[in-house]
Amino acid sequence: MKIQFLGTGAAEGIPAVFCNCEICRKIRSLGEAEFRTRSQVIIDGVLSVDFPPEAFYHSIKFGAELSKLKYLLVSHSHMDHFYAHDFILRGYKYAELAEDKLEIFGNSEVGKVFAECTERELKPEVAPHINFNEISPYSIFMIGGYKIMTLPAVHSKTEQALLFYIEREGKGYLHMYDTGIPDEGIYEFLSRNNAKADAVCFDCTFTDKVGGNSVRHMNIYDNMTVKSNLEKYAITDGGTRYIISHFSHNSNPTRLRLKSLEDKFGVTSAYDGFIIEI
Ligand SMILES: [Zn+2]
Ligand SMILES: [Zn+2]
Ligand SMILES: [Zn+2]
Repeated sequence: MKIQFLGTGAAEGIPAVFCNCEICRKIRSLGEAEFRTRSQVIIDGVLSVDFPPEAFYHSIKFGAELSKLKYLLVSHSHMDHFYAHDFILRGYKYAELAEDKLEIFGNSEVGKVFAECTERELKPEVAPHINFNEISPYSIFMIGGYKIMTLPAVHSKTEQALLFYIEREGKGYLHMYDTGIPDEGIYEFLSRNNAKADAVCFDCTFTDKVGGNSVRHMNIYDNMTVKSNLEKYAITDGGTRYIISHFSHNSNPTRLRLKSLEDKFGVTSAYDGFIIEI
């Protein structure tokens, strides 16, 4: 399974879209290697987790061939994870498609945002090429050769955001953002259904910043709590790779600074374009 991290910043991006703070000014001066776009992870070129405003930019910057996408899993409806306006361009004169249909999976709010964002401009010729499927936590389903398990995130009061366990040919990837420390039930569910994660990606919005953090995201210490739970339930083991991502500008996530967390906590920090194979 080839997992490519195309966007590794939180909602505001890095440097943040309207921000003039010291960190964003420094990151602007350091240049492109330090920039972080909004969340997107593409697996084997066919399955995307989330679809941010920069999906188009990811296609030109990293060669992500979006015409080949077959499946889109959407964690929740926040705009940094689901920019649905682009879907009006999936067909007709705007696109020769490599895959006839894109299947989108998300909660009911994602369904509403999809409808709202496409209602004005979606041509009847484009509509048959996109299909929305509503999903909820604690379900297991197959899409192509991928087995998907959905888990409840701790993120929003107005919708149930989702975490995903994705498995193909005996390899498992656990995708965990946006979320605070999840409920104990997720470990029991994963364990009961024999999930084995070769790679885990954590929401590490706050890096090692403590105090004053919202409970809707995590810092590295929260990540370590989740890691020990995953180990306790034998969902991960000594061979599992732990990745941290979804960083906020408030947490000063320069690559040099994150390197010190990598050594101390045994994690790898994702950056835009980062690839792992499991
Ligand atoms: Zn987010
Ligand atoms: Zn800033
Ligand atoms: Zn969110």
